[in-house]
Amino acid sequence: MTSLNLRRLRLRPGEEHREALEVELQPFELGGQRYIPVPEKVDAELAVTRATTGTVFSLAFATRLHGPCYRCLGDAVLDVDVAAREYHASSPASDELATPYVTDDNLDVSAWAHDAVALALPDKILCRADCAGLCPECGKNLNEEPHEHAEERGDPRWAALDALREKL
Ligand SMILES: [Zn+2]
Ligand SMILES: [Zn+2]
Repeated sequence: MTSLNLRRLRLRPGEEHREALEVELQPFELGGQRYIPVPEKVDAELAVTRATTGTVFSLAFATRLHGPCYRCLGDAVLDVDVAAREYHASSPASDELATPYVTDDNLDVSAWAHDAVALALPDKILCRADCAGLCPECGKNLNEEPHEHAEERGDPRWAALDALREKL
């Protein structure tokens, strides 16, 4: 877990601290599927700026997630760019002025990085924007084998023929 001790920085109002750090990311869950960050560790840029009333944090990094395509379950890769910002008041009057990632002068960079990626994710992760998905009839991958099924069911002419076939 990557965290940063804020007291150690001894920032005075107006001062800024920049640090490059390595953050380990945990797998993500989306639509019941699992997406793995590759590599697991990313180089992140963290900036801590002390204002008169509180502290501003910004975190930037890029990651790449690997997992199943939402439509065809084939391999999908998603690049995610994160640029997140948090504010923590020196004496927070309400929860809105306090970031959940600061406890006892410690900034939990890992938890923040994880949530920031989760927020940046689309509703669905696809192998490509126009993925054709799986055939609802036979389950084959329509990207690899584009096909259609003839309307065998629901046509009264075929129903009559089926009835006849059953008698034979
Ligand atoms: Zn797909
Ligand atoms: Zn099919």
